[in-house]
Amino acid sequence: MGVPRIDGGTLFIDGRWGEAAGGSTFESTNPATGERLGIVSDASRDDASAAVAAAAAAQAAWAQTTVYERSSILYQAHRLMTERAEELAQLMTAEQGKPLRAARNEVRYAGDFLIWFAEEAKRINGEVIPSANSGQRFLVLRQPVGVVAAITPWNYPISMITRKVAPALAAGCTVVLKPAEQTPLCAVAVFRILEEAGVPPGVINLVTTSAPAPVGAEFLESARVRKLSFTGSTEVGMQLAGGAASRMKRVSVELGGHAPFIVFDDADPVRAAKGAALVKFLNTGQACICPNRIFVQSSVMDRFRAELEHRVAALHAGNGMDPANAIGPLIDRASLEKMERHVGDAVARGARLAAGGARLTGGDLDAGFFFAPTILVDVTPEMIIYREETFGPVAPLIPFESEDEVIAMANDTTYGLASYVYTQDLGRAFRLMEALEFAVVGINDINPTSAAAPFGGMKASGLGREGGREGLSEYLETKLVGMVL
Ligand code: ADP
Repeated sequence: MGVPRIDGGTLFIDGRWGEAAGGSTFESTNPATGERLGIVSDASRDDASAAVAAAAAAQAAWAQTTVYERSSILYQAHRLMTERAEELAQLMTAEQGKPLRAARNEVRYAGDFLIWFAEEAKRINGEVIPSANSGQRFLVLRQPVGVVAAITPWNYPISMITRKVAPALAAGCTVVLKPAEQTPLCAVAVFRILEEAGVPPGVINLVTTSAPAPVGAEFLESARVRKLSFTGSTEVGMQLAGGAASRMKRVSVELGGHAPFIVFDDADPVRAAKGAALVKFLNTGQACICPNRIFVQSSVMDRFRAELEHRVAALHAGNGMDPANAIGPLIDRASLEKMERHVGDAVARGARLAAGGARLTGGDLDAGFFFAPTILVDVTPEMIIYREETFGPVAPLIPFESEDEVIAMANDTTYGLASYVYTQDLGRAFRLMEALEFAVVGINDINPTSAAAPFGGMKASGLGREGGREGLSEYLETKLVGMVL
């Protein structure tokens, strides 16, 4: 089968689709089958520079549009995304690998950001502050920060784009987006929607590339870029945030996690195991909110573990297009090797396998990067998996005895993104939500996220929040005006 070349190129700069200036291209492939899905334009630093110039040229006029005009474009984009939901979900499953049902959920979530910020745009209010002097007034204006450079990951290839672009547009900022090299076609599909929704030329610009570093360098070094919004690994995020700090650019970075999932003996272990199975194996474990350490109070460990094993045994891995499959492929070979390293190290240091533990092969599985849903028991702090983010379908179980002990263990990580607690004790729920050094806490809740709520990380998991009112503030400057009458 011939590989479709995306007509006219996949760079979107100043309202026009085009090829990279040097004519380079790269391929997008299906991680379940190895099949090539399309040929996309491979932007260089010069292309990124042209995109930044287009965004800068469009900035002043876009900032002057009314919030009602910007809101109406976002509503329109939401309508188009909803109409094309099935098409987008199928593309996402093909390009990223998640099961179709999960892809449909993600498209809905992506649309939620469009509509949430369409509404929030109308509430970019200023303030009047009384002065001690009768002849003086203070005004506070909230204005767009200016050109935003956005860098997004492959694991949520559509919603991570709308989570940044929708608030930036609502605030009156122009944007240059660099999507992950693994999922450029999803970004192209989102940009077609935004274009059709009526975003004016230059206001949104897309640079697909297989070489992120030079594009990232352009974002950092161009004085016209005022803000960097990044979602991805802690390593790259820290490097970019460091570069932004030395130039005093605004940053929002949402990075890795190492979520504790804590099950107390006053909770129903069966319900907790059901929750653990759902959130641990979400997107084949490739989400920054996936539990990486499952702490279970010793007295309920056996019941919890039996139920988790029962649920894991029912998880079928394979191509996400087949509704029978709940576990899709990992994104690439390096991820597969990381699973083997984490599991191998844990077993060598005394952990035991209660399920899975190896790559899945045979038949169609050979063409993709499939790893068996895995349960490790007796995991200890010396193991790599206790410290490093796994980003795959491996559930490490760790027993604990007391509340104080588990709080200390849970916080013993450089990360601070998501955390989960199962308890029926109200006092304990409050103590835990206050003591956990994580910016998102689910109490008997495995889905504590919404476009309407502020999401982000503490400690090495990031800076800033996305979604909610806070998600819009990230794209606004606060200007103080003193006025003598
Ligand atoms: P992962 O390991 O999950 O792919 P990365 O942090 O490498 O996480 O990727 C997240 C995003 O960051 C992707 O869009 C990727 O292209 C981009 N990226 C990776 N390295 C750099 C870099 N040096 N400069 C700018 N962006 C980068």
